[in-house]
Amino acid sequence: MKIHEYQAVELFRGAGIPVAGGSVAADLAAAQKIASETGYPIVLKAQVLIGGRGKAGGVKLVKNEKELRKIFPAILALRIKDYAVERILVVRALDIKKEFYAAVTVDPAAGDVVVIASAAGGVDIEEVARHTPEKIHKYYMGGAREVEVGRFADFIRKVFADAPLQTAAAGVLRKLVELFFRHDCSLAEINPLVVDAAGNLIAADAKITFDDNALYRQPEIQKLLDAKYEDPDELEAKQKNLSFVKLDGDVGCIVNGAGLAMATLDVIKLLGGNPANFLDVGGSSNPEKVLNALKIILRNKNVKSVLINIFGGITRCDDIAKGILEAKRQMDIPVPLVVRLTGTNEKEAKEMLADAQLKMFSTMREAVMEAVKLASEADVKTKKKR
Ligand code: GDP
Ligand code: MN
Repeated sequence: MKIHEYQAVELFRGAGIPVAGGSVAADLAAAQKIASETGYPIVLKAQVLIGGRGKAGGVKLVKNEKELRKIFPAILALRIKDYAVERILVVRALDIKKEFYAAVTVDPAAGDVVVIASAAGGVDIEEVARHTPEKIHKYYMGGAREVEVGRFADFIRKVFADAPLQTAAAGVLRKLVELFFRHDCSLAEINPLVVDAAGNLIAADAKITFDDNALYRQPEIQKLLDAKYEDPDELEAKQKNLSFVKLDGDVGCIVNGAGLAMATLDVIKLLGGNPANFLDVGGSSNPEKVLNALKIILRNKNVKSVLINIFGGITRCDDIAKGILEAKRQMDIPVPLVVRLTGTNEKEAKEMLADAQLKMFSTMREAVMEAVKLASEADVKTKKKR
């Protein structure tokens, strides 16, 4: 989950990381009030959760009230990659002497949390990493949640020039590490981390993303969600207790168990198809879940066939069959359903579904082959129509 810069700035403030004065405004009057408190010049920053907002005209320096009256509405009227600008961060402009990069993130390959810093800040850090990787310095946490003082000081010295700056930077980065762990972040980034004319170190930008799997224990963070930037199908699936991830293929999948669901995606790929989603209905038996899953999957117009792959253990095949029959009663299902049911109460399930005009299989391979074939035939047909 991502949050807006103004929300991240508030978390920085709370963590004791120095930020520029100011706050967020949704209209000109609010912006004028903030500016009267900070004084000019100010910087206006469009609050959209996508990269490249600067290039799109979403970050502007404003020298006086007259400019504010012109520039604020102009930014508010922008659409950046299809997203309307609803709020603008109004901050006191910094007199920037130097820009650094600082971040704490997860390095999945290393299985560790890493602190990253560079004296080449303010610019696209991926570009720096590509062309001049020697300018990027890393400190691995080594599984710890707090830095080791000596090793951390060595790391800081590689990036920050003089002693007062090193002290300030070590303080800021240590707080960033604390914030990262406290809120189960996957990224906490400051780009640029600025040295101003008075020699103060200040976070001039704030970007935080959170580990979705830990959100259940971060109620304060959950409240910061901007649903506009979430996939509506994935949101609904979450509310219905389904593990669902949208993919870009045409074979919809309903599977029980995350492992079997992953294996199903693999087999679809191996047999020449493309899955439209990952979906795990979970271990418990509940006809309602099949109904909800079908509703969500069929909203995706790319879906040309739906594969229901159930290996009944705790999940009872007859409960799944009930869900399928209920779905057929309640909604118009415009694509073929391919069903593979095996395990607990398989016989009962097959009897229940005997008259339902479904493609029934006992092995995963046969079922996947059929679902892939039906999807590709449907694709050929739609292409001919066009
Ligand atoms: P981003 O492009 O979306 O990451 O937005 P940033 O908040 O990082 O701002 C982009 C750039 O604008 C920074 O790297 C700075 O060079 C510049 N900038 C941002 N805030 C200020 C400020 O207060 N004063 C000055 N002079 N420049 C700023
Ligand atoms: Mn930035």
